[in-house]
Amino acid sequence: MKGLRDHLIARISEGGPITLADYMATCLMHPEYGYYATRDPFGAAGDFITAPEISQMFGELIGLCLAQCWLDQGAPDTFALAEAGPGRGTLMADILRVTRGVPGFHAAAELHLIETSPILRKAQSKTIARPDITFHERVDTLPELPLYLVANEFFDALPIRQFERDGDGWRERLIGLTDGQLAFGLGGPTALPQLAHRLSDTKPGDLVETCAPAEAATAVIGARIHAHGGAGLIIDYGDWRSLGDTFQAVKDHAATDPLANPGGADLTAHVDFEALARSAAPAAHSRLTAQGVFLERLGITQRAQALARNLDGEALENHIAAHRRLTHATEMGTLFKVLGLFPKTANPPPGLET
Ligand code: SAH
Repeated sequence: MKGLRDHLIARISEGGPITLADYMATCLMHPEYGYYATRDPFGAAGDFITAPEISQMFGELIGLCLAQCWLDQGAPDTFALAEAGPGRGTLMADILRVTRGVPGFHAAAELHLIETSPILRKAQSKTIARPDITFHERVDTLPELPLYLVANEFFDALPIRQFERDGDGWRERLIGLTDGQLAFGLGGPTALPQLAHRLSDTKPGDLVETCAPAEAATAVIGARIHAHGGAGLIIDYGDWRSLGDTFQAVKDHAATDPLANPGGADLTAHVDFEALARSAAPAAHSRLTAQGVFLERLGITQRAQALARNLDGEALENHIAAHRRLTHATEMGTLFKVLGLFPKTANPPPGLET
């Protein structure tokens, strides 16, 4: 998008190189030209497809998992049912549909959605079709109540910074200008106390990523769950500890150069789950579990077989492909991981273990 590229080039010529976090936040959420601020990017016609858009089974199993946590914790009579980054609202709609069968759950649930994009808020209101949705810009304003929260592909959209190791210090990877065009460069070396724990598992030249907004968000989620009870399911691509450059851009279902299309391509990075688990303390966290394993433990194959009985022809083929796509190791089953957050006094959510 020309508008945003010009805006970024002007800003860098005036103020000097910017961090990746600054670039990512501007490209995704700029009120006029930002990727999420201006469009609904999901589905076959959009830039990418997410798990809840692939099959209703995903939301059904997440919904029953959260409802079981609620039952196991004594079914508190008011709680926040929350989602961070709900996209089109499909996941929450499936959660609400499947939990209609759980006595008392809907009567006790307050619905809270964390979403910054006005276009997607509108889409969510339409899909979820309930008058009582409370929208939040950030997790900080979630009520002081037991919190049952899901975040699917939310954390990968939060702005990261990258640091390249130089001796025992670090140089930040920045975006500046080369011949008037956006280009990557490196800042001067500095010692960074917040990366001291990465000196033992990196060598000079290695690149690590940090995501301060992700840590701030899990700190709030963990604090609510610790204080009031609840459970958090964080689902995303990534690993226990980030190493290397995972900054990526996707447009029309294909990878593209992250600097080529400011505001016109989705920008993400892999999630560093260790950082999230650490910042969620004193809430407890589960072992990081592959999405395929998690969904199999929750019974996705039985659910798939039950749904298959009413399908034939192309619909049946699509359904079988969707099951495979969500669970298989060569598709989303291993790349996507699940981290559960829960009170120290409770069991981990079904499908997860410590
Ligand atoms: N969970 C959905 C969508 C994932 S895309 C699904 O699985 O289909 C990321 C979502 O997070 C979008 O709804 C986007 O608008 C929202 N988002 C991105 N950055 C955000 C931020 N900083 N605060 C709140 N929402 C954000």
